[in-house]
Amino acid sequence: MSKLRFRVVETAFKKKAVEVATPAERPSEYFAKYVFNKEKMFKYLPSKVYNALIDAIDNGAPLDRSIADEVAAGMKKWAIEMGVTHYTHWFAPLTEGTAEKHDAFVEHDGKGGMMEEFTGKLLVQQEPDASSFPNGGIRNTFEARGYSAWDPSSPAFIVDDTLCIPTVFIAYTGEALDYKAPLLKALRAVDKAAVDVCRYFNPEVKKVVAYLGWEQEYFLVDEGLYAARPDLLMTGRTLMGHDSAKNQQLEDHYFGAIPTRVAAFMKDLEIEALKLGIPVKTRHNEVAPNQFELAPIFEECNLANDHNLLIMSLMRKVSRRHGFRVLLHEKPFKGVNGSGKHNNWSLGTDTGILLMAPGKTPEDNLRFVTFVVNTLMAVYHHNGLLKASISSATNAHRLGANEAPPAIISSFLGKQLSQVLDHIENSTKDDLISLSGKQGMKLDIPQIPELLIDNTDRNRTSPFAFTGNRFEFRAVGSEANCASAMIALNSAVADQLVKFKKDVDALIEKGEPKVSAILEIIRGYIKECKAIHFDGNGYSDEWKKEAARRGLDCETSVPVIFDNYLKPETIAMFEATGVMTKKELEARNEVKWETYTKKIQIEARVLGDLAMNHIIPVATQYQTDLINNVYKMQSLFPAEKAAKLSAKNLELIEEIADRTAFIKEHVDAMIEARKVANKIESEREKAIAYHDTIVPALEEIRYHIDKLELIVDNQMWTLPKYRELLFVR
Ligand code: ADP
Ligand code: MG
Repeated sequence: MSKLRFRVVETAFKKKAVEVATPAERPSEYFAKYVFNKEKMFKYLPSKVYNALIDAIDNGAPLDRSIADEVAAGMKKWAIEMGVTHYTHWFAPLTEGTAEKHDAFVEHDGKGGMMEEFTGKLLVQQEPDASSFPNGGIRNTFEARGYSAWDPSSPAFIVDDTLCIPTVFIAYTGEALDYKAPLLKALRAVDKAAVDVCRYFNPEVKKVVAYLGWEQEYFLVDEGLYAARPDLLMTGRTLMGHDSAKNQQLEDHYFGAIPTRVAAFMKDLEIEALKLGIPVKTRHNEVAPNQFELAPIFEECNLANDHNLLIMSLMRKVSRRHGFRVLLHEKPFKGVNGSGKHNNWSLGTDTGILLMAPGKTPEDNLRFVTFVVNTLMAVYHHNGLLKASISSATNAHRLGANEAPPAIISSFLGKQLSQVLDHIENSTKDDLISLSGKQGMKLDIPQIPELLIDNTDRNRTSPFAFTGNRFEFRAVGSEANCASAMIALNSAVADQLVKFKKDVDALIEKGEPKVSAILEIIRGYIKECKAIHFDGNGYSDEWKKEAARRGLDCETSVPVIFDNYLKPETIAMFEATGVMTKKELEARNEVKWETYTKKIQIEARVLGDLAMNHIIPVATQYQTDLINNVYKMQSLFPAEKAAKLSAKNLELIEEIADRTAFIKEHVDAMIEARKVANKIESEREKAIAYHDTIVPALEEIRYHIDKLELIVDNQMWTLPKYRELLFVR
């Protein structure tokens, strides 16, 4: 009998919610308690230094190295008052997580004792011995140096006893080795390009900010059950497991009452998040059993992204206090919903205008249409790249796999916005602009009631949906660093806005009035990017055919999807916006292919081990029981009767033999296929080999394991079953 499985189920069942004390202060009072935000900067920095730093944060003004010492001194004073003893540069290498190396503040004082020290030099730049971070061949091992450099636009914060300083991570030769460096460049590019376009409408605009509001989906699993599932432990997903008879079909989990142990976890997490300045707001049950969601109020994109990285590590930590493990994998369980991280994205000006929101006047709406249509153009021309930006070995289970929506990027606009675009497309210049008395002109752009779209029209199947005052990029994976998607999107939109400005200016130079020049170009764009607009059911098979006909990227193999990063038009776009060079793009693709291979390789090893050590032995043992039974029947009954009574058991004995033989043969074949793939020199070709030969083998083997789970004695089965993983909480 499987002792561990039953013991962990029993223990999990008896667990009570952990008591979480409600802080004496209100959330507005403890919000950002552990953040060196403007309020603390004001308190701890000399006013000259404070002003220079704020100018750097708000306007991207270059920061004079000479003030770094004073900033460091202020930060140290605050941190030590908070009981901090260590500091770290906190960065996001190309691994999907964050990295940190803690150093204590202590230094020799020159008199045989110690003193606390933290200088500007240590704040601004460090050289972590970073030879073991993915770099795609940019850093040869003999010059393994990379350095981390302070990002003043994301405030330092305290975790436990450590002051964390958000930094970029770049090679000694200047190439980015992380997500933040290109993200900051993409945000600068879209700021500049959008300001230039905004000035057609609002000459006073000086800055455009990209906003990001992420919605983090996740699963919680009791930690005992988790520990009894080596596949969850090693790969983050279940590599086997038959559907539970009940899962999400009753739709009784979504938005249901939050289970008490989970509610305690959420409360704890939210208190910690608020103290770290993360403006968490929404929590609810998601569609699948044991699946939940957390969303903050949207923020400036770079900060929002740091906050997402921070909350993912916070979730891992806090879940343990509650006897849970958090699963951030995009598809931990077959047959129930996977987890995404919708990226709500928009642009806004320093004068308070949301550029993706309809306005009150026709002129406002011309601006709105301009930004929406340019976004659609960017998404259309770079739909393959955007897909590449969200693709990974793990997210592939959510997009493009059997039970997932197709891996095709399209945009949902809703009835009202579609009508507006159709109207512009089908009208002539004179229909749209009529001269009306002294005021000048009258614009015939239909009104779009604000927010109405959000409430009336929803299409959950669209990977890039317009939702009233923003676009929602839903294809992003739950485990991913959002920066990957945000780099691609913001760069593509920046590039597109620059082209738009050029096109409009060319018409204006020819003597066309500004407004009609804008409309002329917009009308052309609406026609050009029509293929990206799709309001129908994105999950249907017809859409796959239709999308291919429209020329959208329909590739489903993740390693091949990555090729989009190296297409000439992609390289041109990233170089024109100054976000990444060809060399950087090539290096990052090496990392992507390598990571893909390694993830599949680990899954294949784990599945092979489990098949051989857990599944086949248990199935064989049960088979032996059946065989014994058959023999005993023969000694009890006359031969003919015994044969009749044992008929079913004989079938089971054969079925177990067939299935275990299949599993064993295919595990062996999979090992051989790995040996072949591992010899391939090119990372791209190797990843393709893993995709083409190993991924299907994982599914084939699993199929037979899941069938065995249905027939083998429940008492013997060692791995917690789906019904336990999904319903015990
Ligand atoms: P949904 O109905 O899509 O589940 P949620 O309320 O869960 O919506 O999440 C919506 C997210 O979008 C939140 O993070 C919210 O702050 C963010 N958001 C709202 N407006 C904007 C905007 N203009 N730009 C970017 N993000 C936004
Ligand atoms: Mg949403």
